[in-house]
Amino acid sequence: MRILVVEDEPTMAQSLQAGLVAEGFAVDVAVDGEEGLWLAGEVSYDAIVLDLMLPKVNGFVLCRTLRERDDWTPVLMLTAKDGHLDEAEGLDTGADDYLTKPFSFVVLLARLRALLRRRGSERPTVLSAGDLQLDPATHEVRRGAVAVNLTAREFSILEFLMRESGNVVSKAKIMEHVWDFNFDGDPNIVEVYIRSLRKKVDIPFGRTSIGTIRGAGYKMALDGG
Ligand code: CA
Repeated sequence: MRILVVEDEPTMAQSLQAGLVAEGFAVDVAVDGEEGLWLAGEVSYDAIVLDLMLPKVNGFVLCRTLRERDDWTPVLMLTAKDGHLDEAEGLDTGADDYLTKPFSFVVLLARLRALLRRRGSERPTVLSAGDLQLDPATHEVRRGAVAVNLTAREFSILEFLMRESGNVVSKAKIMEHVWDFNFDGDPNIVEVYIRSLRKKVDIPFGRTSIGTIRGAGYKMALDGG
């Protein structure tokens, strides 16, 4: 899952980025509202963590502009201000949730996961495709009763494929949701990860859940293969 953090305080931005990357998210940081709006238009993010008080374009305006563009990316708004008025105002501009600084990172993660689940239709906490299960909160993956150990990157790719179960996802789409702007390597890296995922979640169990759709990408079988 790829997250945009729009935050002008460097320490806060860095700690959010480091914390989210450690949780397996791909993260881009914008240091003002203008950059935030630009990035949000360039990349289809899975969620945006948006500070309210920002140089150039503030969080309210940024959020409202996104919604006017018909961009419904989940937005978690951060504010140093406290008060119900701000909260109502934030939600009125189209933010999906709200967190007052200072907040605990654990709470931010929980709220973010809730937003990612809510995306589109209601989604279960634990993702499953047949007997393949993935828990975004605990980072556990199971095939039936067997726990499967994945690297952070493998986990992110599998999570994305499982959220899109039944749909064909292109290599470019996987790149966009799993890697951040700092990645300038070969897009064929996706193939390498798909191979290692198959070795872990499919081949040992005699399954073929991650299908290759020639010329188009990959597809996670709804029944887990
Ligand atoms: Ca700020």
